[in-house]
Amino acid sequence: MAGGCYSERSIERVRAATDIVSVIGRYVILRRAGRSIKGLCPFHKEKTPSFFVSPDRQMYHCFGCGAGGDVFSFLMNYLNFSFTEAVEELAAEAGVPLEKTGRDGSRTDVFREILAESHGFYRGRLAAGEGRRALDYLASRSISEGTIRKLGVGWAPEGSELSPYLQGRGYSDSQLIEAGVSLRSTRGSGVYDRFRNRILFPICDRRGRVISFGGRLLGSADSRKPKYLNGPDSPIYSKGNHLYGYREAASASRDLDMVILVEGYFDHARFVEKGFDCAVATCGTALTPSQARQIGGMASSIYICYDGDPAGQRAAVRAAEVLLEEGYLPRIMALPDRQDPDDYLRDRPDEAVLELVSAAGDPIRYALGLLGGWSSVQGTQRKVRVVQRLASVASKATEPVIRETLMKVVSEETGYSIETIRSEMEEENTGERRRAVQGDGGTLISPWDRSLLAGLLMSPDGLADPLIDYVQADDLRSDVAASILEQMKRQSKEGLSEFSISSLEDEEKKVCAMIMSVHFQRTESEDRDRIMKALDKFRLQRERKHLRSLLRSGEDENPEDIRRRIAEIEGRLLNM
Ligand SMILES: [Zn+2]
Repeated sequence: MAGGCYSERSIERVRAATDIVSVIGRYVILRRAGRSIKGLCPFHKEKTPSFFVSPDRQMYHCFGCGAGGDVFSFLMNYLNFSFTEAVEELAAEAGVPLEKTGRDGSRTDVFREILAESHGFYRGRLAAGEGRRALDYLASRSISEGTIRKLGVGWAPEGSELSPYLQGRGYSDSQLIEAGVSLRSTRGSGVYDRFRNRILFPICDRRGRVISFGGRLLGSADSRKPKYLNGPDSPIYSKGNHLYGYREAASASRDLDMVILVEGYFDHARFVEKGFDCAVATCGTALTPSQARQIGGMASSIYICYDGDPAGQRAAVRAAEVLLEEGYLPRIMALPDRQDPDDYLRDRPDEAVLELVSAAGDPIRYALGLLGGWSSVQGTQRKVRVVQRLASVASKATEPVIRETLMKVVSEETGYSIETIRSEMEEENTGERRRAVQGDGGTLISPWDRSLLAGLLMSPDGLADPLIDYVQADDLRSDVAASILEQMKRQSKEGLSEFSISSLEDEEKKVCAMIMSVHFQRTESEDRDRIMKALDKFRLQRERKHLRSLLRSGEDENPEDIRRRIAEIEGRLLNM
């Protein structure tokens, strides 16, 4: 892998100063077992640990899905970091200074400079003249000067003033556009400011450097303009990978052992105002897996505090599902009467936050509460649908203990037996689209496809591996993975011993390169058996699902045969 903009020597220093066990231990519960350290793999669903971390080799490897690599690739795969971001994060933690090689770095450095200069400009405007209106507005929403300073809030004036200011500092139009602060003028040439007449909240990276802004329109004179405007993705900012307020929240959540997820900048400011710096916000997107993992690494108690209107309530359950999928159990704070957290807390004492914390419930009880509780669910059909919906939320949990806990909650609340709910959940799981992870170059490939392909590509037997015959195109979920498989089969038939990727499409090449750069070579035939077993199980579950839907549709003439086949499949699944 390329060293990015830092010298190999300094990257090696960072590696030497970092302990992979303590870094991974923040995100995965690790246990010492004899000489090795293991835990449940964060990259695939499993019930018994096959994810090993080696302190001697400073590597990790999963025998279940084949994920593996060093501490840098862990952060890249788990948190979606770029290599450079992973190096910077660990260097900052270990206090190792980084030497630049001076090539690659200069490009992103320019954008960081532009954002830092823009931030200075906007903060200055808040203090002067026209910015008075913004200060008055903030005061009317009971945001104190202390909080304004702490959050680095700024003011973007009505006219286009930032662009000429930055041009005067020597930046080119295209740099300003790419950095996300300016837009190309529609008439003729030149650029103008993206943010105008807005209160600006700086969005920072994990090291506290400004990388974008979120802006609240002042007044509602022009209703064609969106009330909130977020900066676009740029070479230094991607919405789905950053959490607003992360840096300050990181240390506060460690101290309090809790983190509060909110939707908006003002909700966030309200918690800070109340003395709870442990709040973070998504920046105008639904919670992403990458953000969920960062939240999970901050503290062991996670609270979601979204708006109390129906849209906010739905978003809260959805965010909870993303956290469950990542192995965390969040609690949801319920707000009365369609209020948002900012409205609700504004005129209440600081202790109101603690009341919300202690009243917060698990996602199942919260979802049921939205329907008015179980007693208000009337009619058999409706009851079935509600239980299905609750089981579907519980089934999102990848951590077995959390799944079991939530399943018990569904059973306690509804009176349905655990067995019934369990079979509902299994149904849910086979039908579930397995979580897709981002490969290099933006190709989406699911962990399932990735582990199957890794099993094939990293075989010590090359194209002679019997697995290549065993895996079929419809075992794979994405077209790109299926196409790679087809070409392996073809080359294998032609008698080649090593897979040649030269004939592949660019997209396919990238997927292969990504897999080969992070996976170990398969060594034991035990791995092959494991993969075949996983495939057999997958195929049986797929068949069962198909048969069950046949039964439900009532179209087939021999339901007894179908039931017998399902029972047979279930017997086999039990013995796997
Ligand atoms: Zn795994």
